[in-house]
Amino acid sequence: MTERRFIEVRGAREHNLQNVSLDIPKGRVTVFTGVSGSGKSSLVFDTVAAEAQRQLNETFTAFVQGFLPHYGQPDVDRVTYLNAPVIINQKRVGGGSRSTVGTYTDIAAPLRLLFSRAGQPFAGPAFAFSFNTPQGMCPECEGIGRTTQLDLERLLDRTKSLNGGAILHPDYGVGKWLWKTYALSGLFDNDKPLDAYSEREWHDLLRGQDLKVSLGEINMTYEGLLPRFQRMYLSRDAASMSDRGRAVLERFTTSAVCPVCSGARLNAAALACRIQGRNIAELSALEATELLAFLQDLSDPAAARVASHLRERLSHLIGIGLGYLSLGRETATLSGGESQRLKLVRHLGNSLTDMLYVLDEPSVGLHPRDVSRLTGLLAQLRDKGNTVLVVEHDPDVIRVADHIVDMGPGAGVHGGQVVFEGTYAALQQAPTLTGRHLAQQLPLKTEVRSPRGWLKVEGARVHNLKNVSVELPTGVLTVVTGVAGSGKSTLIHEVFLPLHPDAVVIDQSRVTANSRSAPATYTGIMDPIRKAFARASGQSPSLFSFNSEGSCPTCSGLGVVYTDLAFMEGVSAVCEVCEGQRFRPEVLRHTLRGQTISGVLNMTAEAALAFFTEKPIRAVLQAMNDVGLGYLTLGQPLSTVSGGEGQRLKLATELHKKGSVYVMDEPTTGLHLSDIGLLLNIVDRLVDGGNTVILIEHQLDVIRQADWLIDLGPEGGRAGGEVLYSGPPKGLLGCERSVTARFL
Ligand code: ADP
Ligand code: ADP
Ligand code: ZN
Ligand code: ZN
Repeated sequence: MTERRFIEVRGAREHNLQNVSLDIPKGRVTVFTGVSGSGKSSLVFDTVAAEAQRQLNETFTAFVQGFLPHYGQPDVDRVTYLNAPVIINQKRVGGGSRSTVGTYTDIAAPLRLLFSRAGQPFAGPAFAFSFNTPQGMCPECEGIGRTTQLDLERLLDRTKSLNGGAILHPDYGVGKWLWKTYALSGLFDNDKPLDAYSEREWHDLLRGQDLKVSLGEINMTYEGLLPRFQRMYLSRDAASMSDRGRAVLERFTTSAVCPVCSGARLNAAALACRIQGRNIAELSALEATELLAFLQDLSDPAAARVASHLRERLSHLIGIGLGYLSLGRETATLSGGESQRLKLVRHLGNSLTDMLYVLDEPSVGLHPRDVSRLTGLLAQLRDKGNTVLVVEHDPDVIRVADHIVDMGPGAGVHGGQVVFEGTYAALQQAPTLTGRHLAQQLPLKTEVRSPRGWLKVEGARVHNLKNVSVELPTGVLTVVTGVAGSGKSTLIHEVFLPLHPDAVVIDQSRVTANSRSAPATYTGIMDPIRKAFARASGQSPSLFSFNSEGSCPTCSGLGVVYTDLAFMEGVSAVCEVCEGQRFRPEVLRHTLRGQTISGVLNMTAEAALAFFTEKPIRAVLQAMNDVGLGYLTLGQPLSTVSGGEGQRLKLATELHKKGSVYVMDEPTTGLHLSDIGLLLNIVDRLVDGGNTVILIEHQLDVIRQADWLIDLGPEGGRAGGEVLYSGPPKGLLGCERSVTARFL
């Protein structure tokens, strides 16, 4: 069946899809385009990938299926001739402090092998170099690289006595049991301030051990503060403590680089083993490009094969624009775009063929220079015999597609159809939104606004920043540019924002607070909506809240019922009692201008704007429309909106707040070329209203429309971290060291 040349989709109706049928070529790269909300994800992820996953699971025995998540059948007549899917999305890799770029991509394994073959002196087989095995880990920090220590200066107030509350930890308060184990031990004068303690008393208080003492009737063994804290708190896995316990502990401890391994995570034997003077921890701290250069000079015949394998794996990492990462970097610190590219590297390392790869906007966070590297890797996946489906807005990715499927014509109910299928050349002539926008390009702005004042950053040295001093203008639109890893986020998020904590930040962190969150609650219009229903019906506003007395008792106002699965993501089904309406029948008898509360929550923002006359509600709905989210329904669970949609929802909500400095991190994520004009209009309105807007962006049209550019570089990592240019856009063109300049 895999001999077939097409995946056939017939009658797809998930979300807004309007009975879509199409053939997707196998062994090719197909890019899905269309305005945000047109139905790309509904088709690619929720129909094709979901059905591939479901069909794959059905091939397992009933026993195995019992352990797998149950995938409901997508709303589609049929999808045939599918391959096993590999979904590469932007979910953060996470994984705690033991997960690093090296362990995640499995590049750490050949590096360990290299040391076991060619390292001197010989230290063991390969797992003796792993910080995740007892044979390799540093015994002091158990492979974490950091240790937590009690900070006596914070724990004790030396001007006080035990009776005066000298021990500041709340569990050791005067009169509490733990306090008594010291105060009633007979070892101390309870009214003497700690400052006046003899050397003996100090020793007992801090280090005393194995002393037999009696507290009234009870005989027990005395334990000084240091061993007790070690045993009770520090040796425990922080994850097993209550949130409160951990928060309290953090007030009295300091976390520092492990004094034994100096953060290298490994034990002395592993660290003593060297290749050309370098140990494995030192090589893991090098940036991937530096490590590759080191390996290129390696001529040891014992290591030749491993080294060449390692070089190939590293070249994948570098090839996708992540050459500035070190193998030792913890994956939890990577951005969404970096995480997705890292997943791609992991898959390039395996030799699977005949798979169905599905990617979600892999160009996020990539400078135009590196997009060509990304497209090269997509072609590589294809050439191994795989089918590659990509949801993308970037014209350079669209250009290299073997086949393009354009969704539209609009978003939400105005979309859900395939409006074009074919090649890039044909798309350029097509009368679709994508076709028209591929042809045009915004010009470089020449009449720029003048700065009204300056916000200063001086001597910044965080991460790769090289003593950066720069002035950010106020009252204008500033765009911060530079290749991935050049230091943009570091400069803005870690240096600038802490100096200006009142700035409004609109980033891509998830908007969802809980499973009941929806645009109505998130933007704050649920309150005035409930009040409007209360006024119209003479009932209490709380009746119309979907987390109170009026909500359906079966689903608690969620409209869906979740089934938790022991070790997989849970599954949800529409609530059978309220049929997804979320409310009790008696609540649905009350109406506002003919609509029930459930009906209102099912309205799109656009429809709601025509329905509501109440001013505060309209202002928010108008803002949702302005940011291009008119197609979202007021009750759609926030867990189903994409990162880009969530970011724009934040934008719509924040537009009312009277900020004066707005910071946005890649606001064009998830935006079609035609939506970008919309975004620029909003930004222009903010700036014309006297605000300062600072964007981190790669999108060339946005860069061209800035009043002021700050370009970082020249490269990522240690080869970056300098401000190459700060000034109006035109001036950047003359900056020879700037990669960005070449693309304008
Ligand atoms: P795109 O990927 O083109 O941005 P989507 O496929 O995510 O578009 O969305 C298409 C439409 O379906 C939008 O109106 C969106 O709000 C809606 N939608 C997406 N996911 C869900 C969901 N889980 N429940 C209800 N509506 C959804
Ligand atoms: P950009 O935003 O331009 O892509 P970043 O500011 O994210 O660049 O990164 C600049 C440099 O700082 C890179 O070398 C990156 O690897 C490093 N870096 C960023 N975040 C961390 C972190 N949490 N820990 C260690 N290094 C980091
Ligand atoms: Zn250690
Ligand atoms: Zn219900």
